[in-house]
Amino acid sequence: MQRKGILYVISGPSGAGKGTVLAEVFKKVKDLHFSVSATNRAPRANEIDGVNYHFITDEQFDKLIEEDGLLEYVSKYGNRYGTVKSEVEKMIEECKDVVLEIETTGASNVKRMLKKRVVSIFIAPPSMAELRARLEGRASEGNSNRELRFNTSIHEMMCAYYYDYIVVNDNLNDCVEKVVNIIEGERCKVKYNRHLIKEILNKK
Ligand code: ADP
Ligand code: 5GP
Repeated sequence: MQRKGILYVISGPSGAGKGTVLAEVFKKVKDLHFSVSATNRAPRANEIDGVNYHFITDEQFDKLIEEDGLLEYVSKYGNRYGTVKSEVEKMIEECKDVVLEIETTGASNVKRMLKKRVVSIFIAPPSMAELRARLEGRASEGNSNRELRFNTSIHEMMCAYYYDYIVVNDNLNDCVEKVVNIIEGERCKVKYNRHLIKEILNKK
């Protein structure tokens, strides 16, 4: 028997390094799946449709809402972002472990909806000055959008109190190792593996 899937919700201020950290985590952790969100924002130079996001139009986003196709969605930084129901539900049914990289409001909604199977991890920058430097270094947004992201990050940081884990992304490798350990550690929890005990006892 396979244990049911775990939902890992990853949040953190824009520019903290969530995407960078997760790319490394996915190289190291087996059987982990990324829930590709939908957004109406334009893709960045290095982003691929269907991999980083489902990049859709405003009208397509409206349609997804009308069809009840989103588990949750928010408007943030002048764009809309939403967790696609079919992505998550299918993976949970298949007993897969899924990563949702979503902001703090979406994270608290998912936690409320799915409760026990959600593990939340907050990726924090080492300082607000370093966060600003990273946002500027990434140079993926114009000045006003970058400023909006930075200003929102103070509120985002305060939400960290409600997460199960906080990992500071100072040295990238250290941060990746900690996130990998959290994921693997959660997988070993008895509450997700009760079936193993009988299986071992019954094994010939
Ligand atoms: P987020 O997904 O949280 O918005 P990104 O992964 O896009 O953040 O990272 C923002 C910027 O910071 C990128 O330019 C990335 O290369 C850089 N970065 C990420 N992690 C680190 C780190 N540990 N040390 C220095 N720079 C980092
Ligand atoms: P970005 O534009 O930097 O890719 O993302 C902006 C913010 O939206 C990030 O905090 C990211 O985690 C969040 N985000 C991405 N997808 C979703 C989603 O499906 N739902 C919610 N609530 N937030 C999302």
